Amino acid sequence: MITRFAPSPTGPLHLGHAYSALLAHDMARTEGGRFLLRIEDIDQTRTRPEWEALIYEDLHWLGLDWPTPVMRQSDRLPAHAAALQRLTSLGLVYPCTCSRADIRAALAAPQEGAPLHGPDGLVYPGTCRGQDRAATNAAMRLDMAAALARIGTAAELGFTETGSRHRGTHVLDAGRLIKGVGDIVLARPGLGTSYHLAVTVDDAAQGITDVIRGEDLFDATQIHRLLQALLELLTPTYHHHGLIRDAKGKRLAKRDDARAIRKYREDGASPDDIRHMVGL
Ligand code: GLU
Repeated sequence: MITRFAPSPTGPLHLGHAYSALLAHDMARTEGGRFLLRIEDIDQTRTRPEWEALIYEDLHWLGLDWPTPVMRQSDRLPAHAAALQRLTSLGLVYPCTCSRADIRAALAAPQEGAPLHGPDGLVYPGTCRGQDRAATNAAMRLDMAAALARIGTAAELGFTETGSRHRGTHVLDAGRLIKGVGDIVLARPGLGTSYHLAVTVDDAAQGITDVIRGEDLFDATQIHRLLQALLELLTPTYHHHGLIRDAKGKRLAKRDDARAIRKYREDGASPDDIRHMVGL
């Protein structure tokens, strides 16, 4: 078993991150496997070296250990570009120059009905699909219908989920991927990659057998499973765990500094207190 914790260094780790990291670490240790760390720092406008340093500090304090050097996604751009190239050569990718405002305007057209929200926000209405526009400063999108046609029977592509809320075997739902997810961004303008592409390619490169992460990412797993099929990558087992919420029931975000691990450390909590707080 190889598990991973893949934080983005865009703020302090909070209790929810501690839960993910501890769970991934404990599951690997119980199985005699390995726990890896990956720094998801593709968005260089939001990542900061001080947040990355704090990640190491917090995780070490929690008692976690991992092999070094850690994988950093910003070093992996050539691998992401190669995957994008492969999808492009299959005829599944197109450039998109729509701004958020363009997308909202297109979705506001009377014939569109109520705009749908997918794992990445508003489902893209497909404005640039088949347009063959100049590709400068464009996002690169996956033509979802073409991608599904390419893999044949979506319902034959499955993944195993071991998290309690969705436990079982799931198969891809083509209708939902087309209507409720749509033509996702594979490469953001000026970045050359995206969360979905990077996480799929890098989980495979690290040989991750079990992806342990919050259930807010459960819906994204269909996308990752599809990309694995298109790129001929192995599919890990998934474990989406419940989210740690604040007293009002709202899920924690990076800006919730009150729940930052650093804050608990400074207030004299022990790593066992943190384990207890997240229910481990
Ligand atoms: N980097 C993502 C985050 O910090 C997690 C990605 C994943 O576990 O798939 O939210």
